[in-house]
Amino acid sequence: MPSTYQPPVATMRFLLEHVLDFDAQMAALPGLEEVTSELAGEVLTMAGRMCTERLAPLNLPGDAAGTKLVDGNVVTAPGFAEAYAEFVEAGWPGLAGDPEFGGQGLPRTVQIMLDEMVSAANLSFGLFPGLTRGAAEALAAHGSDELKATYLGKLVTGEWCGAMALTEASAGTDLGLLRTRAEPRGDGSYAVTGTKIFISSGDQDFGNNIVHLVLARLPDAPAGVKGISLLLVPKFLPGASGAFDERNAMSVGALEHKMGIHAQPTCVMNYDGATGWLVGKAGRGLNAMFTMMNAERLFVGIQGLGLADAATQNAVAYARERLQGRAADGRPGPVPIIAHADVRKMLLACRAFVEPARALAAWTAIRMDIADRHPDAATRDAASADVALLTPVVKAAFTDFGFETTVLAQQVFGGHGYIHEAGMEQFVRDARITQIYEGTNGVQAIDLVSRKVTLNGGAPLRAYLDGIAADIDKSDSGDLAVQMRAALAMLEEASATIAAASGDADALGAAATEYLNLFALVSLGWMWVRILAAAPALEDARSRDTYAALAAYYASYVLPRAGLHAARIVAGPATVMALDEALF
Ligand SMILES: Cc1cc2nc3c(=O)[nH]c(=O)nc-3n(C[C@H](O)[C@H](O)[C@H](O)COP(=O)(O)OP(=O)(O)OC[C@H]3O[C@@H](n4cnc5c(N)ncnc54)[C@H](O)[C@@H]3O)c2cc1C
Repeated sequence: MPSTYQPPVATMRFLLEHVLDFDAQMAALPGLEEVTSELAGEVLTMAGRMCTERLAPLNLPGDAAGTKLVDGNVVTAPGFAEAYAEFVEAGWPGLAGDPEFGGQGLPRTVQIMLDEMVSAANLSFGLFPGLTRGAAEALAAHGSDELKATYLGKLVTGEWCGAMALTEASAGTDLGLLRTRAEPRGDGSYAVTGTKIFISSGDQDFGNNIVHLVLARLPDAPAGVKGISLLLVPKFLPGASGAFDERNAMSVGALEHKMGIHAQPTCVMNYDGATGWLVGKAGRGLNAMFTMMNAERLFVGIQGLGLADAATQNAVAYARERLQGRAADGRPGPVPIIAHADVRKMLLACRAFVEPARALAAWTAIRMDIADRHPDAATRDAASADVALLTPVVKAAFTDFGFETTVLAQQVFGGHGYIHEAGMEQFVRDARITQIYEGTNGVQAIDLVSRKVTLNGGAPLRAYLDGIAADIDKSDSGDLAVQMRAALAMLEEASATIAAASGDADALGAAATEYLNLFALVSLGWMWVRILAAAPALEDARSRDTYAALAAYYASYVLPRAGLHAARIVAGPATVMALDEALF
């Protein structure tokens, strides 16, 4: 049975309209005054159709076909080039892009919902426009007017693609170790030389230009991260006629053989004196790249959510059809496996994560829209701090829970889940990379504890936790409120422990992932509080009952995990650091 996917547009609309007060928040943002949840719903309905009709059918065949390197050129899986052309033709890459450069100027919130559906339908495909958008953002924020005039419009519309080239064989998390060089040529351009590995969308056969943003060192640059600059290196340069038809001195050395996202070309890239131009100031490359990486990190979190939802939908459908065993209520067997308590627990766990995660993603995206556009500087700053705080949480927790969800959904299929044709093992394999790329989840957790908790003296964290407490107090959510108060108290205490450990790398490192998980459990529980508070607006009693049951499951089966993480934080680093390295 091939996998199926139903775009969750009705749920998205409910979240925007009733849970997140989207219309009123957009009304305060110049340029977005006319954007309502109704309009967002219409756009997302069209997007959902494109995902189910064009992208999802290519997912399983794309996984089987993979990508190939033929005579130095990447050949993508059948149908990908045509689907990309249609995607661009329909204007999807520029949905939230700057209208001055050909974008449609819609909110990031709508973009993130599109990202979820594209990731659910076909993650390998989704990385092409995703990386292109990240490149456009970095260029828009840091590029010269000249570079923007030439490249930005093409990237915003998706006519050209983008790639992000940071990683080298000996420089992954620690980019300060990178060796790629950029030598000035005296005419404003640079000769870029070096080898990058693991470069997503590094090359393809869509017949367009590919704009690589490459981290490199200028001559005499200091060692470490301060010596890194960002360069724009296109696959095609303008030739004598002015058309972009001259191949730059860069090539694909190899394609990586990998666990998942088989239809996405992950390239070893060789730059052999390739022509490039500086983006932003010399030595400030990492800063410029962070613009791209922050947007990408949220996008990666959304990928985890999208895959989790797609896997869950398939697991629910299968559990209704698959007949095995007898039910406890004495019905003659075999019964659909959804009757069995253990199967129900797996399905509940999946949905109890997906629903509040979608709400938290949208909440974060609305804060991004406010940070981008609100007329009041203090309001923008507060929103920006929220985004900074939530970025590592969304990236790491959504992909960890997302992976866990794909595994549970696969488990519902029993042995059939292990077989390629069912599509479930692909969700598991594809989800696994989301925990690793764009900075591993461990590194996200370290970012949270070492930079975000203490950001602006801890004020953004304080405001965030106070907001959660106020919503719990306002709510009438019974057992969920009781459990949430307990978990929030643990998070408060853990936050104080983290703040007190500031500068102690072992203490922070040992606590980091535990703290991020605790933070995420409380944040998702907060979204359950808000969803339940808004549920009376739903006309359909079955939907209200569904949310009540899922929130109850979250309160009694998921939220108690908070205690485990809190206990580990209390245990401190002593146990982790005690064993001598030689004794492992
Ligand atoms: C399929 C795929 C696609 C990718 N796409 C791109 C791309 O488009 N562009 C690009 O530039 N890169 C890309 N990457 C690279 C990816 O971002 C890196 O692999 C990732 O950031 C980790 O770097 P690394 O592999 O060198 O691991 P390492 O940095 O060697 O880390 C190994 C382990 O050590 C941990 N660790 C490392 N340093 C620390 C520390 N200071 N504190 C605590 N723990 C630490 C890590 O969490 C990890 O568990 C891709 C990778 C893959 C596999």
